[in-house]
Amino acid sequence: MSFSYLSHLECSATGERLDADVVQGVSAAGKPLLARYDLDAVRQAVTPEEIASRPHDLWRYHEVLPVRDPAHVTSLGEGMTPIVPLPTYGAAIGLPHLVMKDEGLVPTGSFKARGAAVGVSRARELGVRAVAMPTNGNAGAAWSVYAARAGMGSLIVMPVDAPEITRRECVVAGAELYLVDGLINHAGALVKAAVEERTGYQEVSTLKEPYRIEGKKTMGYEIAEQLGWEVPDVILYPAGGGVGLIGIHKAMKEMQELGWIGEQLPRLVCVQSTGCAPLVDAFDAGLDESTLVEGTHTLAFGINVPKALGDFLVLQAVRESGGTAIAVSDETILEEVGALARSEGAWICPEGAACMAAARELRASGWIGEQERVVVLNTGTGLKYPDTVGVDVPVLARDGRVPPA
Ligand SMILES: *Cc1c(COP(=O)(O)O)cnc(C)c1O
Repeated sequence: MSFSYLSHLECSATGERLDADVVQGVSAAGKPLLARYDLDAVRQAVTPEEIASRPHDLWRYHEVLPVRDPAHVTSLGEGMTPIVPLPTYGAAIGLPHLVMKDEGLVPTGSFKARGAAVGVSRARELGVRAVAMPTNGNAGAAWSVYAARAGMGSLIVMPVDAPEITRRECVVAGAELYLVDGLINHAGALVKAAVEERTGYQEVSTLKEPYRIEGKKTMGYEIAEQLGWEVPDVILYPAGGGVGLIGIHKAMKEMQELGWIGEQLPRLVCVQSTGCAPLVDAFDAGLDESTLVEGTHTLAFGINVPKALGDFLVLQAVRESGGTAIAVSDETILEEVGALARSEGAWICPEGAACMAAARELRASGWIGEQERVVVLNTGTGLKYPDTVGVDVPVLARDGRVPPA
C-alpha cells in the first residue's frame, strides 16, 4: 500500500515524460506538466466506500495526490467544503436544482488553499527551501500561510490594486512581500528574475509547477463524492489562469478511468468578466489559444489574468466536455452578489457571483435546461472583498429613536 501512486510527470502539449521525484517547473516545450498516477494500482488499493470513512479534508484522496510520505502533508483542514442548495435563488433564475460548492469556507477564505496545501507539501517533500510567486492576492495569501506552516520561506509580488486583506495575510505569515504598479504578468517577470538570483527558491507561478493543479482537482473528486459518485450536468467556474477548471476536468477523467463515475462528463463553463475575457474570446473565435489582452480591469480580481499559460488546456477541457465560455460585466457581478446574499444569506466573492450571473444567462438562452443539475463554484468568501458593498445607513443620535416599522 502506498500513500501516493504518483508515477511520473507528463508534458501537457507533447506527452514527454519527466521524473516526478525531483523539483520540476515546465516541460522542455515551456508547457505545464501534469502529474500522472498508476490508476490501475489505485483501483486495487482503494474504493469509494473506503474513502467515505476518512477524515473530511482533501487528503482523503491521497492515492491520487503527489505527496509520498504522510509526514510531509501540510494541512490546515482544507477541503470537503459543503454543497449548499440554493432553492430561492435557483427558483428565481429558473434552475430548481442549482447548488453552490462553497469554497469561502476553506482556510484563507479562497480555494487557493487547496493548491497551496498540496503544492507546498510536495515542495517541502522535494527539499525546496522557499516558494516564490506573482499573485492577484488570494494565491499569495494561501501560499505564504502554508509555507509558514511547513517551515518554509515565501517571496510574493502582487499588484498594488490587489485586495488589501491579502497583503495583510502575507505579512502576518512572515512572507517577503512586494507590491508592483502593474498587473499579474508584471509581477511574474519580477519573480522570475528574482528566483534566477536565489538558491533554494522554487518559482510556483500558476502552472509553472505541477502540483497546484493536483490540489485544485480535488474539487472535482469532492463534487462527485458529495453527489453520491454521480456528476452534475453543468459546472460553472470563474477562470483566471483556469487551474481549477483544468483540474476538475482532470479529476473527472481520472475517476472515469478508476471506474468511480460513468461515461458522462459534466459540461464545464468557463466564466470571465467582460473586462478581462481572453479565454471567452478564444473560445468564441474557435482558437486553440488565447491572445494577451491589454489594459484589463475587473473587480473580480482573481480572474484578472490577461494571458494564461494553460489557456489551451482550459479550451480543450471546455470543448471536450461539451461546455461553453461566457463573460459577464462587473455591474452584473455586483448585482448578483446582492441578489444571492438577500435570497440565500450567502455573501459570495465577485468571481463566484460571475458564475451565478452566467448560470442565469445560460438558463435564459436555453443552454442550460430547467431540470439540469447545476453546480456553481463559489471560489472565495465575500468577506475578503468588503469594498464591493457600500453602506449608506442613517446614524442615530444617542437620545434619538429607530423609526417605526
Ligand atoms: C484565483 C481565483 C480564481 C481563478 O482561479 P484560476 O485557477 O486562476 O482560474 C477565481 N476566484 C478566486 C476567488 C480566485 O482567487
